[in-house]
Amino acid sequence: MQVALRTVELRRARLPLAQPFRSAHATRTERDVVVVRVEAEDGPDGWGECVAEPEPTYWPEYTATCWDVLVRHLVPRLLDGRPLSEVKGHAMSKAALEVAVIDAGLRASATSLGAFLGATRAQVPTGIALGIADSPDQLVEQAERWYDDGHRAFKLKVAPGWDVEPARAVRKALGDDVALVADANGSYRSDDADDDARLRLLAHAELGLAAIEQPYASDDLVGHARLARMVETPVCLDESIGSLGDLDAALALGAIDALCLKVGRVGGLVEAVRLHRRCREAGIAVRAGGMLETGLGRAVNLAVAALPGCTLPPDMGPSSRYFAEDLTPPFEAVRGTMAVPDAPGLGTAPRPDVLERATVDRLVLRAPSP
Ligand code: MG
Repeated sequence: MQVALRTVELRRARLPLAQPFRSAHATRTERDVVVVRVEAEDGPDGWGECVAEPEPTYWPEYTATCWDVLVRHLVPRLLDGRPLSEVKGHAMSKAALEVAVIDAGLRASATSLGAFLGATRAQVPTGIALGIADSPDQLVEQAERWYDDGHRAFKLKVAPGWDVEPARAVRKALGDDVALVADANGSYRSDDADDDARLRLLAHAELGLAAIEQPYASDDLVGHARLARMVETPVCLDESIGSLGDLDAALALGAIDALCLKVGRVGGLVEAVRLHRRCREAGIAVRAGGMLETGLGRAVNLAVAALPGCTLPPDMGPSSRYFAEDLTPPFEAVRGTMAVPDAPGLGTAPRPDVLERATVDRLVLRAPSP
């Protein structure tokens, strides 16, 4: 998509989370995020969010490196009309820029992101991510609150020692009409007999998990292939898949039954569409992943979750799941479903007052004069 740009504005913004979120790798209490605004020569602005976290514990990129690579390498190339692919890696920073440019282009042509990507649904089911709790009882209490509000799919963060027992407790409390995904964020080792035993129990039919996500380290495709042969529960990969090449390797090895698709992790919307297509060709399910995004990233995730073949529960909750005050007008859930934005582009934009209050750093880069 060709959009002539006048400026790119970067903001680093901090938004407190509604409640702390604990996974196998970290506990988050705020969203520390780079927000991108591209100003077109002629036409509406476009917005993007860099989904990286403040620490490199999920993925090598983190907020401060994203800011740095955007300022020094990516934005200058974008403003100079050079391809971002000249820069190796830095998928999340590239994706933030790409989304903002595509948003500007789609707004100019009055096309929604969902329509652009090929979304086939106007609504998607929610999937509530539940972090590691202090006890199974506390986890069940949280799950029941969301269940009572109409939500029927949950992603449980697991780690060695916090896996079978909490999953069993949630399944027992909520019964068989909820979908459960267990996400380990690579916290098990494929060469550890105890870990192996725990994963086999987690994959046991009695728990009825829709998928086990990223049990092993991101580069352990061989371990994932062995597990996928051993258990019936689909093995879903997240951190292992940063590109189409990674996906092809995982498919060739039989290491993947489902893909957790995140636009940031794969470097943008164009690459995400390629991976989605490959999953459809290979007949594997897709799960629209999330990263504690503000409403800007949530709009992207909603469009992805509405693609055909996204049959596993997404990481998708209303704004109130994440923030007391979201950057954008809040996204609501009604009886466990959320509407996919159908307005042009992302279909949402930051509320100026919230963005201003949350901003801790700001930089405007200008296109070189012709
Ligand atoms: Mg995951």
